[in-house]
Amino acid sequence: MELFPVPDVPEIREGDDLAAVISERVDLRPDDVVCVASTVVSKAEGRFADLDDFPAGPRARELAARLSDVTGDEKDPRFAQAVLEESVDLVMDEPFLLTETRFGHVGVNAGIDRSNVPDHDLLLLPKRPSESAERIRAGIDADRVVVTDTCGRPFRHGQRGVAIGWAGMAPSRDWRGESDRDGRELGVTVESVVDELAAAANLVQGEGADGTPVVVVRGFEWGDHGESDAHFRDVDGDFVRQALRGWTYE
Ligand code: GDP
Ligand code: MN
Ligand code: MN
Ligand code: MN
Repeated sequence: MELFPVPDVPEIREGDDLAAVISERVDLRPDDVVCVASTVVSKAEGRFADLDDFPAGPRARELAARLSDVTGDEKDPRFAQAVLEESVDLVMDEPFLLTETRFGHVGVNAGIDRSNVPDHDLLLLPKRPSESAERIRAGIDADRVVVTDTCGRPFRHGQRGVAIGWAGMAPSRDWRGESDRDGRELGVTVESVVDELAAAANLVQGEGADGTPVVVVRGFEWGDHGESDAHFRDVDGDFVRQALRGWTYE
């Protein structure tokens, strides 16, 4: 398996056709997986915003005041308002806002970015990243697309790439019912392939001024395994999230 960046991608602006930008710069093969940083998907979809677009309501003012207290850092209530408007569930409200976005991804600040955003205060995540992935897929010669974002992880320091959207492939490879080397049947293993591809792609994308938001994964084979549509957990099946309810930061 090999990963390489698509060269010479320009600064992406609202209305740009990402599929065309990619196709003009690389010869793709059908079984390539094209991993696209959500930042440029958002830019193409015009998901720029400014703090003034989000006049803070009482809940946002309260959240920002508490966060400012807890962190000792002045938090803008308009930013809290933006996070709330992008979210359907507030998983943690201190010492940072951890929310579920409208499309099911749980992330800090609803994934709203303040880096690599020219001329605006904020860049919101794509509204429906899997639909974005499908649109890109329809315009390129590769059959599989993953939309990535850099995300922190509970229990571990550091961030890595995760998949927030995908098209042309199932998100997970289902090993249940297969055997290990000793013939023991695997009972629970569902491998999040799109996250693994996103993490690998993120290594090549970089986080700063690299300018390489699109990475091609060549030679990844699914193999003779089942597929699973599981990716984002529902609250009902998420015991860690359930345990967080009632938990407070000291
Ligand atoms: P995120 O992980 O989706 O939040 O995106 P990042 O802000 O980490 O950026 C990922 C990569 O895309 C980095 O190499 C950035 O320099 C690059 N990048 C971001 N926006 C653009 C753009 O408009 N054009 C180009 N060429 N690169 C960009
Ligand atoms: Mn991001
Ligand atoms: Mn990143
Ligand atoms: Mn193992």
